[in-house]
Amino acid sequence: MNEIPQRLAEVRRRIRAAAQAAGRRADEVALLAVSKTKPAADIVAAYREGQRQFGENYLQDAMPKVDALADLAIEWHFIGRLQSNKAAEISRHFAWVHGIDQHKHAARLSDHRPMQAPPLQVCIQVNLSGEATKGGVQPAELPALAHVVAGLPRLRLRGLMTLPSPTTDLATQHAVFAQLRGLLEDLQHRGLELDTLSMGMSADMEAAIAEGSTMVRIGTDIFGARG
Ligand SMILES: *Cc1c(COP(=O)(O)O)cnc(C)c1O
Repeated sequence: MNEIPQRLAEVRRRIRAAAQAAGRRADEVALLAVSKTKPAADIVAAYREGQRQFGENYLQDAMPKVDALADLAIEWHFIGRLQSNKAAEISRHFAWVHGIDQHKHAARLSDHRPMQAPPLQVCIQVNLSGEATKGGVQPAELPALAHVVAGLPRLRLRGLMTLPSPTTDLATQHAVFAQLRGLLEDLQHRGLELDTLSMGMSADMEAAIAEGSTMVRIGTDIFGARG
């Protein structure tokens, strides 16, 4: 039995409820369905329910699905760790990249973005206290990186992303997300036109939406646990 339609409806209901509780409109919060490790059939099941934005972490896992589903109007987001030798292929096949943390990677993505495609939409990943992985730029280095990334010709810097370590402590969840929002506001005051806070996953999306998330990245609660 395929439970994806019901799970997706429940995630959408939670987004609406969290937005309403925060005095925000539900359409201010985009839903990125994280389909890493899941088969193409699961993506099709969510697509049939109107889902269009899908996130993948591993290029080798993603490419067969990107190719198989090329006829669907899917917007693919790369949310995994970047490696220089993968940048060209990522830049050709994805619409968004969320994990920029080095000028070198951003420059390669820009260099390889096909001329007939629109600019690649990117977010800079920030390493806040308690970040689960080693990825992400330190807050002190963010303004300098943001300015060089914003200046790359084939990229469009949209905002910031963070990947906190899992915690059930609500105060900690809120504090980390509020910190990312503060960093975005600081960059906006420095003159960068940014509109995206990519933050919130299955276990902490309510706190993220309360703190201003404009894009939650949800895997488990749509597609089930990963094996
Ligand atoms: C796997 C992953 C998600 C989704 O996490 P869930 O807890 O399954 O919702 C979101 N963002 C990133 C960067 C991920 O790697």
